[in-house]
Amino acid sequence: MSAFDILIVGAGHAGAQAAIALRQNKYEGSIAIVGDEPEYPYERPPLSKEYLAGEKPFERILIRPPAFWAERDIAMLASTRVVAVDPQAQEVTTASGGRIGYGRLIWAAGGSPRALSTGHDLAGVHAIRSRADVDRLTSELGTTTRVVVIGGGYIGLEAAAVLTKLGKHVTVLEALDRVLARVAGQTLSRFYEGEHRAHGVDVRLGAKVDGIMQSEGRATGVRLADGEVLPCEMVIVGIGIAPAVEPLVAAGAEGGNGVRVDAQCRTSLPDVFAIGDCALHANAFADGAEIRLESVQNANDMANAVAKTLTGATTDYHAVPWFWSNQYDLKLQTVGLSTGHDATVLRGDPASRSFSLIYLKQGRVIALDCVNAVRDYVQGRALVVERKSPDPAQLADTNVVLKEL
Ligand SMILES: Cc1cc2nc3c(=O)[nH]c(=O)nc-3n(C[C@H](O)[C@H](O)[C@H](O)COP(=O)(O)OP(=O)(O)OC[C@H]3O[C@@H](n4cnc5c(N)ncnc54)[C@H](O)[C@@H]3O)c2cc1C
Repeated sequence: MSAFDILIVGAGHAGAQAAIALRQNKYEGSIAIVGDEPEYPYERPPLSKEYLAGEKPFERILIRPPAFWAERDIAMLASTRVVAVDPQAQEVTTASGGRIGYGRLIWAAGGSPRALSTGHDLAGVHAIRSRADVDRLTSELGTTTRVVVIGGGYIGLEAAAVLTKLGKHVTVLEALDRVLARVAGQTLSRFYEGEHRAHGVDVRLGAKVDGIMQSEGRATGVRLADGEVLPCEMVIVGIGIAPAVEPLVAAGAEGGNGVRVDAQCRTSLPDVFAIGDCALHANAFADGAEIRLESVQNANDMANAVAKTLTGATTDYHAVPWFWSNQYDLKLQTVGLSTGHDATVLRGDPASRSFSLIYLKQGRVIALDCVNAVRDYVQGRALVVERKSPDPAQLADTNVVLKEL
């Protein structure tokens, strides 16, 4: 049985960054990353953006060049899935029955796309989570003219923008009464619905999917609850992820929707940490509420905090959340968490396609969504971090720079 001082499960953003940061912090013990994908760690955001569009080859979305890992003495165990954790014996079991021992375990397994209750396995039905998903999807584009995207979240909308640009006829089905309902305020939702419609996307709100139509195992359309059928050659399902934590929870770790971690990303199991999309943590920018964040920022910052803790400088995870989304020529940048806001201030004119939405809670700035407004994003960050409560009229006035507030 092989064994490593630090074993990282998951070769995504969080797992890769944990190994990188450990070496940066002069960690000299042995490190291995076990990942169930065949590739070296790569960036996921381009999967629904430049990589899907064919504008960036795979080599350009690798987190580090392939040689980096061996140079840093980080063992890469690819195409290897961990199915069980034994916290007493300090070892994991892989799908092929192999066992790997650990001194410390960092669980960074992300999540898997939520599936439709029926029809998910039909040919022509795709999720966008991995390189393999996108390669499968793009290999079918030559025979696709109509695409139905189920889910009006960031990934669904980004895919809709790319595929529309590629000349496909795209319909987006959102079950709620606005897109991005989970993550953004109404003004932003309406703006993006308008943009997609202006680019020719058929955006349907309050659209409930009843099932996927099929012929000989291949999807031929989507049937809505009101009986309407939308014929298509491709269905993209973007309805969120389920955190990949089963082996940890089965081993007794606290959690459910993610594995619960403390301020230093420790799980309730000894010597086991969890970071990234799968980590359920109390977030200071959500007033201490327990949440999971699905972002590169969260993955990297949690990885950096754990690497410091494991190299002797016990460090809490306390980083301001930020995120971005590219759709058409619109660059959205967000900082903070808008959940629970009780007021919003519009700064700039959405018709100009450059504006910001500032979210307030009891008068304090808790988040900004900035569309083609890099300056607001950069300068507004301090308002969120310091929980400032400026005069809303000044926030709205584009002649007042946010830095001055
Ligand atoms: C299409 C897409 C677009 C996105 N766009 C943005 C964006 O614009 N901005 C942003 O901030 N964030 C974006 N995100 C989110 C961001 O990519 C994730 O938050 C980030 O990848 C989380 O990192 P992670 O390491 O926690 O999980 P992941 O990157 O998902 O890595 C987890 C890895 O663990 C592997 N794994 C799972 N279970 C096991 C197991 N049992 N054994 C071994 N390996 C396992 C998985 O296959 C995967 O390779 C996007 C995500 C997607 C899918």
